[in-house]
Amino acid sequence: MSSNPLIQDLIENDAFPTVTVALPTGARWYPKGVLADDTNPLELEVGVLGILAEQNYRDPWLMLSGESIPRLLKSVCPSIVDASEIAEIDLEAILLAARMVSSGPTIKLTHLCPEPIKKPEEEAKPKTKAKDEKPEEEDKTHGVCMHEHKLEIDINEHILRYDVISDAVVEERFTYALTRVAQVAHLRPLPYHRSIAQIKEAMERERDMTSLNDFQLDELISNADAINRYTKIIDMSSETALENILAAIEGISTTNGKLVVEKEFVRAWLLALPADEAEGITDAINAMTLWFNSFSEIKYTCEACGAENKFRLELDANRLFGQAGDSVQPKKLSPKSKSGVKRRRIR
Ligand SMILES: [Zn+2]
Repeated sequence: MSSNPLIQDLIENDAFPTVTVALPTGARWYPKGVLADDTNPLELEVGVLGILAEQNYRDPWLMLSGESIPRLLKSVCPSIVDASEIAEIDLEAILLAARMVSSGPTIKLTHLCPEPIKKPEEEAKPKTKAKDEKPEEEDKTHGVCMHEHKLEIDINEHILRYDVISDAVVEERFTYALTRVAQVAHLRPLPYHRSIAQIKEAMERERDMTSLNDFQLDELISNADAINRYTKIIDMSSETALENILAAIEGISTTNGKLVVEKEFVRAWLLALPADEAEGITDAINAMTLWFNSFSEIKYTCEACGAENKFRLELDANRLFGQAGDSVQPKKLSPKSKSGVKRRRIR
């Protein structure tokens, strides 16, 4: 019962529909206090997206500060108490459900085929090319298929990929047995706060790196200040990598089966490992991430050039709030497109 007659009126007339979703993680890796006490992670109630959530979600600074998702979750899914611990895979399932209950079960989008065209050399328009001295880089879409595909994603169907991770899957995908010693690393999906930290750290690194661009190479290796700054960037980068690995490890079993979860023990252990063992762990983490990414993958065949296209369905503001009902992917068609901010990388 709300004491506000307007809100109460909305409730009584079913203006706030909800759906229930099962969290893919089943809250398996969540410490106590992430979900409200009486919450069943297999029947989590998700409500409609309000205008406030939309405003927060569209604000790039709130997004980067890591504030927008917790605010959004608070409004659509009040049983999540500590949003920063939520794994991204759960977040995706919740957002899909919220999108479905707010604006219907289909997402319409337009995808431009990014397949490079094998051009019959120079035949296209050799005259104009020769004149202007800015070849290639100028128009990134040049030499790309660009055929427009209208796609309709059925969220009811799409969300089935976000199945609850079973014990068998944990055994298969979330454990890595070391090769030299009978220790086992138990992996876990990255919590949301780590994904945000990663983005921030990458931006800081890029900013610091740019500040070094003014130096010539010979200066760079003889200037104490420059060396100092460069070393800091490198250290920061290894620290990020280490934090990412640590965040993806639930714990390590010793040879006699004792599970060690204390971060500081795992950290020291990780640093003491021979390179091949450490690499084995990062490979396993990367494989886990790729598997998660495959959930949101959309595939289709281009009818113009026959290319098999795939891309990740990312719930940007337009797709999430769906007023336009349609959105085109940003033009990142050049092969070396840098999507540094969005991309997750473990090493
Ligand atoms: Zn094509």
